[in-house]
Formats: sequence, structure tokens, C-alpha cells
Amino acid sequence: MTKFDLLCIQCGRSHPALTARCEAGCASLLRTRYKEKSFRPTETASFFRFLDWLPCESGIETGVGPVVFRSESLDRWLGLDSLYCAFNGYWPERGAWNPTGTFKDLEALPTLLGLRDRGKGRIILASAGNTARAFAHAARVLDFTVYIVVPESMLYRLWLPSNGPSGGTVRIAGVRGSSDYSQAIRLSDELARRYDLDSEGGAKNVARREGMGTVMLEAARILGRLPDHYFQAVGSGTGGIAAYEAALRLLGDDRFAGQPIPRLHLSQNAPFLPIYQAWRGETWTPGPEDDLFASVLANRNPPYAIRGGVGDALKASDGTVSSVQSDAAIAAGRELSRREGIDLEPAAAVALASLRQAVASGQVRRDELILLNLTGGGLDRIRRDFDCRTLEPDLWIDESSLDSFEAVL
Ligand SMILES: *Cc1c(COP(=O)(O)O)cnc(C)c1O
Repeated sequence: MTKFDLLCIQCGRSHPALTARCEAGCASLLRTRYKEKSFRPTETASFFRFLDWLPCESGIETGVGPVVFRSESLDRWLGLDSLYCAFNGYWPERGAWNPTGTFKDLEALPTLLGLRDRGKGRIILASAGNTARAFAHAARVLDFTVYIVVPESMLYRLWLPSNGPSGGTVRIAGVRGSSDYSQAIRLSDELARRYDLDSEGGAKNVARREGMGTVMLEAARILGRLPDHYFQAVGSGTGGIAAYEAALRLLGDDRFAGQPIPRLHLSQNAPFLPIYQAWRGETWTPGPEDDLFASVLANRNPPYAIRGGVGDALKASDGTVSSVQSDAAIAAGRELSRREGIDLEPAAAVALASLRQAVASGQVRRDELILLNLTGGGLDRIRRDFDCRTLEPDLWIDESSLDSFEAVL
């Protein structure tokens, strides 16, 4: 047996290897169960220090991983005593080396390594930007083949440092005339079917959640306890589920047993609020997403109601969801940049603004231990430090012919 199995949250069936769906057909998430129950981070200088609790057999040498630090200047700005930031991006002075600047780098490596453990070397995904960059880079590092489907209007976000690793194969399919991420998902599903490719899988991708969950693990390593509150901006909410699941795993270790589960404080960028409105029991009418400040958060089909999904994680952690206006997020991002000298990805600025709102409304107390997940940052810095090139599509498919296209990968 390998070091883990996957349990279906609904029927309890055990699955011996990485897979996205329950064999019995349950529409619920699968959750890892590791043989190693105690929390034993190693000396490794990356998130592979948590390899015991990652669903791949081995790690690689890399600088990827969350960096948890205290910011006195943010403490002062927000009027807090115990705020810890988890920075997931590129910020050399703080020791943050995520090559594509977001916590999607935490997702890509374990996903590809987990596939490799099962003898696979190819994957396909649809992405509006950050996920695509992370998988393209990881494919180059691990000699993988990755197919990425991107709406035409989002292609400009697909760049990589030109002097980075050069192994593997990255193939881009552009959906011509499209600005709609859900069309890219449709095309990706169709190509996966035709060419028998593994799909990245989104929230159902266990390796993705475990990679993102290392933010909570790193905080526990630094703090020696669980935080009282966890703040993150969400589109799919997968990172929130991941933080909750990582906390559950930590509670299985004697040193953390009995501590309260950190309250999830998830945030979305108004007016694109499907998770916020689902949480409030309102129906959400999709509007245009073109000019959203944190456009990476514009996910129309978050795994909210599914068993083990965002709704369950919110309930179990006594969590909340907040709505953040773009101007508040922009102001928060500027404030951090002025105080700390690094740029924030817009989604991370939304999370920071939501923390400010929570302090103002008394949702958090000054002396409570707060973990703020800054999910992306240093993108401007990457483009300053490296010569970055935009990736060109190898293949174009018209949005109008998605039902009947002939594609050759
Ligand atoms: C993807 C992403 C998010 C949202 O992640 P979830 O999947 O909703 O947890 C937040 N911030 C950044 C920078 C992202 O790339």
C-alpha cells in the first residue's frame, strides 16, 4: 500500500490511488487518509517539507512554498496584534520563490507528480490565467506534456520567464472570439474525452487541495498551534476547503488535538458573488465579468453544495463569506505595496480588504491569531526581474464551432 488512501466522504469507500471520483458514483469529494498521523515537517526548504501529507511519492528540489511572516506595518494599519500573512508568490527578500507568482504553484507540482506516480505524463486543463501559468511552468520542470485551453481574451495572462526550465511540452488551444471561461472548460472536457487525457479536475483534484492545504500546515509549523481565523479570497473556494481539511488533519496529531477549527473567512469581489450569495441563501444571477478587478475569482460554478464542498467547510468551521468592492481591494493592495514594497495579485488584495472589513465590524478581536492567505503577489516583480514571454496558441478553435470542431492535438 502507498502512504495514503482516499475516502469518499459520502459512502466511506476507500480508494487505493489518486482519483477524482468515488467508484460508487457518489457526487462528493474524496479525502486523503495518510498512514502518518503525526505532523512531522522535515528540514526541506520548500513545501515538500510536508511530503508525508502530500499525495505523491517524492518531491523535487524547488523553492515553491508558502512563506508565513508577521508584518508590523500591517498590524498597525489594521489595529491587530497577532496577524500572520502567508505569502504565496515571488518575493525574494522574504524567501518566497513561487515561479509564477501565486498559490497555483502549490497545486501544479503535486498534481503532476501524482500523475507520474501512476505512470502518466500528460494532462489537460482550462484556465483563465494563474492555473495555466503554474501548470505550464511545472510541466517544463517535470518534463510533462500539458494542454491548456484558454479564452482568447485571457491569453495575455499566459506568460513565462524565458530563461526558466525548458523541458516538457506546453500546447495551448485558444478559443477564438471568447472571453468566457466556461467555454474553455467545455472544450477542455471534449478534448480530454477524444484524446483520453487526464483533466486537472478542479476541486475534485485531491492533489490540488493538498498542495493548497500546505498554507495551513506552514502556519501550524511556525505558530505551533492552529490560527483562530483564516482569510482567503475565493473563486472556486477550493483553497478554503483545503485549509479546512488541513486543519482536520492537524487535529489528528496530539499537539493540536482539541484546538478549535480555524474560522474560514472567505471573500469575493463584488459584483461577482456566487459563493457569497449561496452562503446567504440568495440566488445568484451571473452578470458580465469582464471588468472585475480580481478576475481570477470569476468562477461561475463553485463546488458549493457538493458533499465536502465549500458550504460544508463553512458550516463546520463556523465560517463567513464577505463581499469586497473593487475600490476597497485596490486601496488595500496599494497600502500593502507602500508598506511592504511588493505588489499583490488582485485576489490577494481582496482578501486583505476583507480582513480590514472584518476588523471594522468586530468579526475578529485584536488579540486573536489571524492567518491571512495572500494567494498571489510579486507578479510585477517577476516581470521586472525576468524576461517574460507571452505563450502563443498552437491551435485555434472558434467559439462558434465548439460542437463540431476537428482538432488535432
Ligand atoms: C485561484 C486563485 C484564488 C482562488 O482560489 P480558490 O480556488 O477559489 O481557492 C485566489 N487567489 C489567487 C491569486 C488565485 O490564483
